Amino acid sequence: MKNKLLRGIPASPGVVIEKAYIHGGKEFIIPERTIAPNEVRSEIEKFKKALRAAKGEIKAIQQQFLKKTDKYHARIFDMQMLILEDKKLINEAIQIIRKERKNAEYVFQNLIKKIISNFDSSKEYFRERTSDIKDVLNRVLYHLTSKTFQELSSLSGECVAIAHHLTPSDTVKFSKDKIVGFATDLGGKTAHVAIMARALGIPAVVGLKEVTKFVETGERVIIDGTRGIVIIDPDEATQRSYEERRKKFQDYTKELETLDELPPTTIDGHTIDLSANIELPIEINAALSHGAKGIGLFRTEFLYFNGPPSEEDQYKIYSYVAEKVYPDSVIIRTLDLGGDKISPSYGIEDPNPYLGWRAIRFSLTERKLFKSQLRAILRASSKGNVKIMFPMISTIEEIREAKEILEEVGDELNSQGIPYDKNIDVGVMVEVPSTAIGAEEIAKEVSFLSIGSNDLTQYTLAIDRSNPRVAYLFNSLHPAVLHLIKTTIDAGHKSQCWVGLCGEMGAEPLAIPILLGMEIDELSVTPISILETKKIIRSLSIDEARQIAREVLSLESGREVEKFMHDKIAKELPVIKEVIERRE
Ligand code: PEP
Ligand code: MG
Repeated sequence: MKNKLLRGIPASPGVVIEKAYIHGGKEFIIPERTIAPNEVRSEIEKFKKALRAAKGEIKAIQQQFLKKTDKYHARIFDMQMLILEDKKLINEAIQIIRKERKNAEYVFQNLIKKIISNFDSSKEYFRERTSDIKDVLNRVLYHLTSKTFQELSSLSGECVAIAHHLTPSDTVKFSKDKIVGFATDLGGKTAHVAIMARALGIPAVVGLKEVTKFVETGERVIIDGTRGIVIIDPDEATQRSYEERRKKFQDYTKELETLDELPPTTIDGHTIDLSANIELPIEINAALSHGAKGIGLFRTEFLYFNGPPSEEDQYKIYSYVAEKVYPDSVIIRTLDLGGDKISPSYGIEDPNPYLGWRAIRFSLTERKLFKSQLRAILRASSKGNVKIMFPMISTIEEIREAKEILEEVGDELNSQGIPYDKNIDVGVMVEVPSTAIGAEEIAKEVSFLSIGSNDLTQYTLAIDRSNPRVAYLFNSLHPAVLHLIKTTIDAGHKSQCWVGLCGEMGAEPLAIPILLGMEIDELSVTPISILETKKIIRSLSIDEARQIAREVLSLESGREVEKFMHDKIAKELPVIKEVIERRE
C-alpha cells in the first residue's frame, strides 16, 4: 500500500528517505525436546560451543565499538559477557540438560527468561535494558540452532534499519555511511539505541508497535525522527515534500552549528552557564562539540540496572567523564533508583513508587551501596572538577545525613592515603515542593541547588510523569511550579548558592525567557538541545526576560501562562517563534 503512515515516538530528530533493511526478523520459537541419554554429552558440548561462539562475536563487536565511539560505552558488552561467563547460570543449565534431558536451547532460553522477569517490565527503563540480555540469548540460540546471525554490517549501500527492537550491539553498525536511520516496534525515548541515535545524529522513531509487519527489505521508507512518523512506500509527491523537509533540517542543523563556539550570552551581555545532561558517557562528545559548559547532570542509574556495579568500575567511568570535560566540571548525581527506575532485584516493590523508597531514601538505607558510589565519586574528584548531587531531597535531615556519610567516606580515603578533592562541591536536586519552600535553610547546607523540573512538576501538581492518561495536566508553566522555582532561586542566592535547572523545562522555548528573567544561573539540557537553547538565550535581553518573569508570576493558570508566552513570542520574539516552528 502506497504512503502507509505510522506514528511512533520521536527518538532522534531529522529526516531520512532510504531503502529498508529488516533486521532480526521474527522471535525464535524454540520447541521443548527430550534428548536420549546418549545425546546428553554432545548436547552439553554443543551448548558450551555456542557460548564460546557468542562470546567471540560480542568481543569482536566490542572491539569495533571501541574504535567507533568511546571505551566506556563498550561497557554494555561487558555486561553481556558477564552473562555468558556466569558460572552459576551455566552450571544450572548443564545440570538441567543432564538431569531432565532437555534440549540446550530450551533450557537456556528458560533460564534467561527468568533473569529478564526479574526486571519490572512495566517500567520503561528496565524494559529497555532487557534488550541487552535478549541479544545475548539470541546470539546463543543462533549458534545452537545453526542459523546465521545476519549482521547489519553485511549490507551494501545506505539503508534504514527496521526492527522489532534494536540491541546495543546493533548500534555499533550505526555508521553514518550505512545505517542512516532506524525505526522499531518497541522502545522508548530512554532506550540505549535512542540515546545512541541522538548522540550520533541519526533520525530515529521508536515505539511504532508494528512497523516490522508492514515493511519489506528493499522497500523505500521515510523516517521523520522530529515528528515521530514513518511512511512506507511513499509516492513521488510525498517523497518530494519530505526531501524538502530533510534539506531544511540539514540547513537548520548547519546554521545552529555556527553557534558551537559562541557563549550563551543575552544581547545585553548577561551570561549563564549552559551545560549538558547525560545518561551514557557516549553523549559527552555531542555535548562538548556544541560548547556545553561541562555536565550539569550525569545520571548514574544505567550502571546499576544489572545489579550493583563495583567501586572500581564506577571509578573508571566517573574519572573518564571528569577527564573528558576537564577543566569544566561534571555534576554526578548519586543513584536515583525507584520511581520509574524501579527494579525488583533491589527489593523495591512499592505500591506507590514515586512516593516510596526512591533516590536518596534508598541510598541512605542501603549504606554499603551508597558508600561504594561515594568512594568512587570522591576518588574521581582528585583533579577538582567533580561535584556531587543528591536526588529527591525532601527534608534537611536527609542532606545532613548524606553529607555525614560523605565525610565518613572521605575520612576513610584519607586514612588510606587516597587523594580526592577535599573541597568538593555538594548540591541537591530541588524536586519536591518541601525542598523548594524550605530552600533557604537547605541552601545553607550546600554549594548549589539544581531544580529537577520534571519531578518538581510531578510532585507539585500530583501528576504521575509517566502516565499518558494524565499527561495533559503535566505543565511546568503552571504558576504553582513557577512560584516554587522563583522561591528556590531567590533562596539560593540569599545563601550565596548558585541555582541551576536540569529538567526538560530548561530546553522549552516558552520557559527559557521566564527562567532567565528569574535569574537562573545555569541550565542543563540534553546535548541535542544545547544549540537551540543557546540560540534563544542569545536572542533575548535580560531586561525583557525579567519583565516577562514578573508578568507571568501574576497569572492564574498554566494555560494563561502559555497563552501569554505565545502572544509575546508572536509579537516580539521572532527567534523563539522560529525555533518552535522548526520543531514542528
Ligand atoms: C528531574 O526530575 O527534573 C530530573 C532532571 O531528574 P530525572 O528526570 O532523572 O528524574
Ligand atoms: Mg528527577
